[in-house]
Amino acid sequence: MSSSATSVVNGGISFWYADDGLPAVREPLSGDASADVVVVGGGYTGLWTAYYLKKAAPFLRITVLEQKFCGYGASGRNGGWLYNGIAGRDRYARLHGHEAAVRLQRAMNDTVAEVVAVTEAEGIDAGVHKGGVLEVATTPAQLARLRAFHEHELSFGEKDRELYGARQTAERIRVAGAVGSSWTPHGARLHPVKLVKGLAAAAEALGVVIHESTPVTEIRPQHAVTPYGTVRAPYVLRCTEGFTASLGGQRRTWLPMNSSMIATEPLTDEQWAAVGWDGREALGDMAHAYVYAQRTADGRIALGGRGAPYRFGSRTDNDGRTRAETVEALREVLTRFFPALAGVRIEHAWSGVLGVPRDWCATVTLDRATGLGWAGGYVGSGVATANLAARTLRDLVQRDSGQAGGTGLTELPWVNHRVRKWEPEPFRWLGVHGMYATYRAADRRELLRPGTGSSRLARVADRVAGRN
Ligand SMILES: Cc1cc2nc3c(=O)[nH]c(=O)nc-3n(C[C@H](O)[C@H](O)[C@H](O)COP(=O)(O)OP(=O)(O)OC[C@H]3O[C@@H](n4cnc5c(N)ncnc54)[C@H](O)[C@@H]3O)c2cc1C
Repeated sequence: MSSSATSVVNGGISFWYADDGLPAVREPLSGDASADVVVVGGGYTGLWTAYYLKKAAPFLRITVLEQKFCGYGASGRNGGWLYNGIAGRDRYARLHGHEAAVRLQRAMNDTVAEVVAVTEAEGIDAGVHKGGVLEVATTPAQLARLRAFHEHELSFGEKDRELYGARQTAERIRVAGAVGSSWTPHGARLHPVKLVKGLAAAAEALGVVIHESTPVTEIRPQHAVTPYGTVRAPYVLRCTEGFTASLGGQRRTWLPMNSSMIATEPLTDEQWAAVGWDGREALGDMAHAYVYAQRTADGRIALGGRGAPYRFGSRTDNDGRTRAETVEALREVLTRFFPALAGVRIEHAWSGVLGVPRDWCATVTLDRATGLGWAGGYVGSGVATANLAARTLRDLVQRDSGQAGGTGLTELPWVNHRVRKWEPEPFRWLGVHGMYATYRAADRRELLRPGTGSSRLARVADRVAGRN
């Protein structure tokens, strides 16, 4: 461990809370209650769902139950990439046809604009900058993948995506050794915590009831059970993403995958001059164990990637504390990308969990027989997807309760998709650790032996993990 690693603020939920302050926690549930819809989990999925439902049908009594405080999970810790990627689109194309997947992709493109528009309309100052997403290649193998990825995205109707060579890439962001990049306008960077706090306030202002410090211990049809009482409602919507495994009967539903981040101190003007990044694009790469980053509104770099990918037995959280090796690995990526920042101080490191279904496909479901619904399994691209999921849950509930007919959203191919559960331990742990060790080995090989092309190892890992 380098000496500077010891001065890093580690955990404390996330840098975003250090920056914006932890919230005052709302009152817990106090006794049994009833509602028309109960939402379990106060992240983006739960809060957007409550918001849109209440907006569409102000007479509905909607209660949100949150185990800690709204934004405690990934919604208060993420990289702030609001972008149009959705986990599982290609599998949905295979299952439901290319046209259906194109509609899903279009809905995601529109979702980025929707989030930006609603934050503006609600006066939520979430530090949104709509600079798109720039994904860079730094090795010949990555460049080959980048070109294939670019063509593939065009085939899903993204006609406004642009492919850049080394020079054009450097004109945007000077990532050392970048040989090309692909840019989409359907992306923005934002401050995750400002968004989640603003959403909770907007939902509450509409009349949604939010109880915090209220863990739901059991979900069954028409019941959300907590230590302080049970909320009965015809619809119970599970919006617990990476924490789902801790609910009874859900241990193997979605695997809680870890993602870790670091934030630098604010950079000086000279440092920014060396880096570029005037367009504030969300920045990613084409490594198998990929990296994501943003230039924050207060002039830092926040950069994330996979640390220890998964904890045995689907354990989820320790308020974001992160292993020193992971902090060092992320610092190494930062200085590999931007050698001019070799001496820059890392101020904060944190981690969070995201939900991964066995087939890596995001889903939104309402079981009409039981009134139980859920959305998630976003695999690390949930900032925008949670909004699309929420509007879809709204439409599913409204259709089911006879308030409205079907909409375009309820016909999208990810609706009511079912998938088998993950394997029991120790196979789950071995499988996920094996997969990420293989990705890292593949990345190392491509870096050290640039002539050898895209490593076959990674494709094998994809197949074993069920990603392809
Ligand atoms: C480090 C990190 C970086 C990421 N970066 C990006 C990014 O840049 N772009 C992107 O698109 N996606 C990113 N993601 C993923 C994205 O943040 C998530 O997909 C998204 O926030 C999921 O929102 P959610 O509301 O479904 O889940 P969460 O935000 O996890 O919310 C679930 C909530 O449910 C509560 N809860 C859980 N169990 C219970 C219970 N039993 N009773 C009551 N409440 C409960 C939790 O406390 C939590 O508040 C990242 C994730 C992580 C961890």
